[in-house]
Amino acid sequence: MRILMSACKQVVQPMVSFQGPGLTNINMDPFLRRKDKVVIVMGATGTGKSRLAIDLARHNPPAEIINSDKMQVYKGLDIVTNKVTEDECKGIPHHLIGKVDPDSDFTANDFKHHASLAIESILERDRLPIIAGGSNSYIEALVDEHSEFRMKYECCFLWVDVAIPVLHSFVSKRVDRMVKVGLVDEVRKMFDSTTEAEYTNGIRQAIGVPEMHEYLHCEASGSNDDETQERLLQAAISKIKENTCILAYRQLQKIRRLQARRGWNMHRLDATEAFLKHHAETNQAWEKLVARPATRIVRQFLLD
Ligand code: ATP
Repeated sequence: MRILMSACKQVVQPMVSFQGPGLTNINMDPFLRRKDKVVIVMGATGTGKSRLAIDLARHNPPAEIINSDKMQVYKGLDIVTNKVTEDECKGIPHHLIGKVDPDSDFTANDFKHHASLAIESILERDRLPIIAGGSNSYIEALVDEHSEFRMKYECCFLWVDVAIPVLHSFVSKRVDRMVKVGLVDEVRKMFDSTTEAEYTNGIRQAIGVPEMHEYLHCEASGSNDDETQERLLQAAISKIKENTCILAYRQLQKIRRLQARRGWNMHRLDATEAFLKHHAETNQAWEKLVARPATRIVRQFLLD
């Protein structure tokens, strides 16, 4: 059986039909083709896409998640790239995360290929594929530059949105938390002071790596006193925050472009209020503003 009850497929027009004299349309295809369904969770960095994907997978028919963050596909730098932890995954299988050689270059074409294989294998298991991640160029390549995709699959786009000033403040605090739990050490372990600085390939492009170069280079050469080193570290952290905010802004612009120019029908979920609350109230607001509405949208999508 292919997927999740027949309700999970959308009936599409027959491929071939003809109008004979005095006849109504005759369907030459004895079986109406149905498209398989795929959910795509989009949003800028820090908005909670991974959390929503996991929420959806827990509250809908069996589902599996395919990562579409171009830095999280690589092995390593789990803190820097903010990968979901095993605990956060809540037993939901995740694909294309932490698998690729960090020195290789995983391209949009590689993503199209591997994401398609993952979608097919998930559907074979009668489960719903949920694609989640911030690399909008990868999602665009998969959905609109992959001739077969729209023919084979019906997509439900969910967009988790957070007002930019609120998101900026959140991602700045997230960088501070990353530093507390070991960002510097993680980058230091892969830092090679003997080679020329090269931050254009693989995982070294991740925000958090190039920004640490000067600090780690001076640390390795022992050329600075402690005070100067501390100043360099604080400058690197500020730069990571700044670049993360720029990334969030660019991702948001790109989502708006996909909506306006490509005509993607996105369901926007405004999570801003949830980000302004504290502790338990955050979770309640998230449930109310994001998780429950998204679950309803996906259930309806699966029934249509
Ligand atoms: P673009 O077309 O600009 O590459 P995109 O949608 O394909 O956009 P993004 O996911 O926005 O890709 O990533 C752009 C850049 O942001 C990456 O090359 C990387 O430097 C950085 N980046 C993205 N995701 C992460 C992450 N999880 N951790 C650290 N840096 C990241």
